[in-house]
Amino acid sequence: MKTVPLEIVTPERIVFSDDVQMVIARGGAGDVGILPGHTPLVTTLKISAVRLKLKDGSEQHVAVTGGFLEVKPQKVTILAEAAELPEEIDIDRAERARERAEARLAASGQENLDFRRAELALQRAVNRLQVAKGK
Ligand code: ATP
Repeated sequence: MKTVPLEIVTPERIVFSDDVQMVIARGGAGDVGILPGHTPLVTTLKISAVRLKLKDGSEQHVAVTGGFLEVKPQKVTILAEAAELPEEIDIDRAERARERAEARLAASGQENLDFRRAELALQRAVNRLQVAKGK
């Protein structure tokens, strides 16, 4: 079984650090699947769930809020603005964030800054809810 070391870090903490069999992430230019030995790569990341195949073959999802994925010959790094494992996600908080964002979207005219900010907040909340609920 081949593995590659993966670190998922935010400005605040190391969220995940272990060897994995595979990383599937939503890059700015489309989904990327990283296996050990992948050629070097840097891509932006969308607000999304990163899917990991762990050493034991099980699957782990991590909610990431933007940032970058870097593949080096011997290491994969995800540098995210925020990232949470499913069990770290406060579902009530994410529900409240979703409700706030939906109310702002309904109140603001399209294409202005508030609309875009509310849209991103909604994406973060929905992503967290999906990861927390294992979807
Ligand atoms: P909120 O409005 O609830 O703060 P947000 O989307 O604006 O949500 P972020 O700015 O993306 O929050 O994240 C700020 C910090 O709070 C990060 O450390 C992030 O991991 C954490 N965080 C945000 N929402 C949750 C949540 N539902 N459960 C656990 N941690 C969260």
